[in-house]
Amino acid sequence: MKFLRTLLLAAPLAGAVRLDRQGKVSYDGYKIFRVAPEFADAVEAELEDLSGMHLMRTAQHFDVAIPPESIESFQLLNVSSELISDDIGADIALEGELTPYESPVQALDVAAAAVPDPSWFRAYHAYNDHLTFLSDLQKAFPSNSEIFRAGTSFEGRAITGIHLWGSGGKGSKPAITFHGTVHAREWITTMVNEYIAWQLVVGYGNDTTVKAYLDSYDFYILPVVNPDGFVYTQTTNRLWRKNRQTRSGISAVGTDVNRNWPYQWSGPGSSTSPSSETYRGQSAGDTPENLGLRTHVDNVAKGQGLKLYIDWHSYSQLILLPYGYSCSARAENINEQTTLARGVASAIARPYGTTFEYGPTCSTIYQTNGGSNDYIQDVSGAEFAWAIELRDTGRNGFVLPPEQIIPSGFEAWQGIKNLLSNF
Ligand SMILES: [Zn+2]
Repeated sequence: MKFLRTLLLAAPLAGAVRLDRQGKVSYDGYKIFRVAPEFADAVEAELEDLSGMHLMRTAQHFDVAIPPESIESFQLLNVSSELISDDIGADIALEGELTPYESPVQALDVAAAAVPDPSWFRAYHAYNDHLTFLSDLQKAFPSNSEIFRAGTSFEGRAITGIHLWGSGGKGSKPAITFHGTVHAREWITTMVNEYIAWQLVVGYGNDTTVKAYLDSYDFYILPVVNPDGFVYTQTTNRLWRKNRQTRSGISAVGTDVNRNWPYQWSGPGSSTSPSSETYRGQSAGDTPENLGLRTHVDNVAKGQGLKLYIDWHSYSQLILLPYGYSCSARAENINEQTTLARGVASAIARPYGTTFEYGPTCSTIYQTNGGSNDYIQDVSGAEFAWAIELRDTGRNGFVLPPEQIIPSGFEAWQGIKNLLSNF
């Protein structure tokens, strides 16, 4: 139904993208509305005409960003909704500037140095600083870690991770793999992945529990698996989600790498429209990022076994279990996965009372096709393949204030420790 187009044929609905003085997309005056689920499809159908943005859809609600010139038209739709942010531009300003990283390795000009200072987690940082941070973390743990590459992005960036291992030596134990920031705007996931890697490195020498984790599992942590999109959120458009892949004959840029995994790829849980935020690509697995990631995950799974995979997202505070592609298909060990997720949710809640819901992806949010955890559960053969949606529940959404980085990391770390101690 194209209600608005019919009703307001002559009205100039599609506003041009506005840029600020730095040449970035301006979100000044954009509002976020939380639409009731029964109106989600109707609003989705009007979103392009409103120049609005799909932010987050779950079984309970659909959050959309509406530019100032379309607010009136949105209200004319007469759907039940709640205003959850009055000005996204103001929220983005509260995120602060990207803070330069002071590398202890570069400052001292030595090959090995102390673990990077935890002040790293008090602010957001530029992509290149993330690479330096990861490399410094590796240098502080030289005999038990290495930097690795899982393929190359569309624009030619190395998809970079840190591999950590314990006393058994490199590659000798079942693997745990974490992916962060496949959706470029979900910045908190980069920081939380790095926080967990940092805790593992710091804890190995002085915490017997953490040492036991690393002596039992190899960790492969990739804080930014969509580097092109991530860089684009920092240079140009803070709310960009997809990769930056162009395709001949198609003007829209970007494919949703988390709808591109070559398993249960086609279906209603992704879009065939290149301008959609959930565009699945022209064929299964046709993004360079997906090729690199699945090759890496499959090799690790074949070589040493994959105990756990987590794809970290934001926002909504959810622990999502297989499957996304179907609400009736059940993972063989779903009861065990659910019990573990319950434990993780209660461990996350302990420090600050942050509530995480849990359950299969399809019934908890909506049907998704071509998602990472379905592929990694059934094709790679992971024992547990999850997606975790971090803070918050919508007030700040993707632009979580930097004061929440350490609490987000700390509570997620409690959840991960609970999982590692219980499976
Ligand atoms: Zn996401």
